[in-house]
Amino acid sequence: MSDFELRNAIVAQARSLFDRGLCPGTSGNISARIYDGYLMTPTGASFATLDAVRMSQLDADGRHVDGDPPTEESPLHLAMYEQRPEARAIVHVHSTYAVAVACLADVDADDVLKPLTPDYVLRVGRLPLVPYAKPGDAALAEVVGAYAAESRALLLANHGPIVAGSSLVDAANAIEQIEETAKLVLLLRGVPTRVLTSGELAQLRPST
Ligand SMILES: [Zn+2]
Repeated sequence: MSDFELRNAIVAQARSLFDRGLCPGTSGNISARIYDGYLMTPTGASFATLDAVRMSQLDADGRHVDGDPPTEESPLHLAMYEQRPEARAIVHVHSTYAVAVACLADVDADDVLKPLTPDYVLRVGRLPLVPYAKPGDAALAEVVGAYAAESRALLLANHGPIVAGSSLVDAANAIEQIEETAKLVLLLRGVPTRVLTSGELAQLRPST
């Protein structure tokens, strides 16, 4: 995919996330690797009205080199890319149900969402909870980097999910599965629930 096509793909993906209610207001940011750096959605931009030409461009060291200034959450993206060289794109949102789960006091911080459906297991797998730090702080990027070494999908406490994907579509699909599974977890809260068994999980996960 050329940079031109990638810019348009980011705009289309952002619009799709906005239309499905996953990025209210000006929340959410997307980035993708290019041959000499990164494309990133600009600070303060609504996903409903992104402009491919004004997309932020950063060099390989994360310096802003073209387009509008990048999202203030760019350090989170850069910290994940550093730990996951295979990642081609990152999607981060403040979607309602995932944020609601990120505010619960009694979740399993090693893996926040239970394996309820095959779709979730296949597209996300494990979702650790990253301890809260103020958005934009270097401390948050540091801890996200540490967690990203172990998992491509993270839920930031009292904040929202962030996923590194093998492609833009892969990352966006995982974000959508996190939101849908967060809805299920909240719907089923307090209700006796059957989660997938270890045998059923083994059938879904490729043997290593
Ligand atoms: Zn955020």
